[in-house]
Amino acid sequence: MPRVSFEHIVKSFGAVTILDDLNLAVEDGDFLVLLGPSGCGKTTLLNLLAGLLEVSDGRIMIGERDVTDLDPRDRGLAMVFQSYALYPTKTVYGNLKFGLAASRLERAEVEQRIAAAARLLQIEPLLARKPGQLSGGQRQRVAIGRALVKQAGVILFDEPLSNLDAKLRTEMRLEIKKLHDTLKPTVVYVTHDQIEAMTMATKIAVMDGGLIQQFGTPDEIYGKPANLFVAGFIGAPAMNLRPARLQVDGHCVKAGFDTGDVIDLGDYGFAQRPESGAEVVIGLRPEHFVVADQPVANAAASFELPLRHTERTGSDATAYLGFGDQLLALRVDPDRAAGFSAGEKLRADFPRGKANVFDARTGRR
Ligand code: ATP
Repeated sequence: MPRVSFEHIVKSFGAVTILDDLNLAVEDGDFLVLLGPSGCGKTTLLNLLAGLLEVSDGRIMIGERDVTDLDPRDRGLAMVFQSYALYPTKTVYGNLKFGLAASRLERAEVEQRIAAAARLLQIEPLLARKPGQLSGGQRQRVAIGRALVKQAGVILFDEPLSNLDAKLRTEMRLEIKKLHDTLKPTVVYVTHDQIEAMTMATKIAVMDGGLIQQFGTPDEIYGKPANLFVAGFIGAPAMNLRPARLQVDGHCVKAGFDTGDVIDLGDYGFAQRPESGAEVVIGLRPEHFVVADQPVANAAASFELPLRHTERTGSDATAYLGFGDQLLALRVDPDRAAGFSAGEKLRADFPRGKANVFDARTGRR
């Protein structure tokens, strides 16, 4: 399964440059998710790899092959589209077979590949049906099947689950993940859905404004966001990002908020020695707070703030506490949240080692 790399990629449409000197590489068998808001350039990047768009400059490698100027069908990859792109007049069997039309394989090999893909995707009973007689989830399985029969080393997915309802999306997520674990192709998968990214990816490239804001494992991206964009984009409810000023006293570094609250940053691991008064943004994940009747031993910060409102979804609850003229979002036990009343003061402790600190000027971690 080949490595895929983008080297110094530039893509312009007329006078507008969408991608400017973009570099990115994934190893064999990686599941790379290109994640970012609408318009960030992720589909453009995928289409450049697929050969559906031409680069303005730079090079794309698949394994040892420079595929930059190759036809899509000569690149050794398969693609699954959001719209399924099935032939409505062909049966499921015909659609799967069509994926191999240009391959000149022996008939027995074709049959064997179709049978194997149909079994894996559990669409054997549907082989004689036409796409119009299938549900959305079944159609997407056929579209994935058509990619699998090619036995390509690289499979591209362009938002394949966006047309499915929430329950089917969850099911298909697991299916695609299982397929990847079994067959281990190199996958490049485009989505704006962070749950898809976090659950399926081995590597995530978070994109914004045509730039890769961070590249790393899901844990790295979630645990150590590289900048304010990534911090705000990954996580729901979103990370609380609040301005503060550093207070440095010898080895002891704290950050003070406008509200008068202070958080002890301990040995945060600053790249440079921090200066007192430096403007920072402190990032606090909602799930790290502990709403405590008893103080948490050695907490980095303890807040006593009025409850504004709670949101309960059954399995989860979020409490919003007034913090100056803003709110702090906290994950809380839904059973406890049922007993909260608006206006009551809650004590919320924040543990050590969990705060994120960003330079307020550059936005960088
Ligand atoms: P979405 O999730 O909405 O599909 P995306 O991150 O995939 O967004 P792209 O489709 O890659 O974004 O588009 C990136 C930028 O390039 C957008 O600003 C878009 O308007 C622009 N763009 C894309 N295709 C063209 C084109 N053919 N001509 C001109 N501009 C284009």
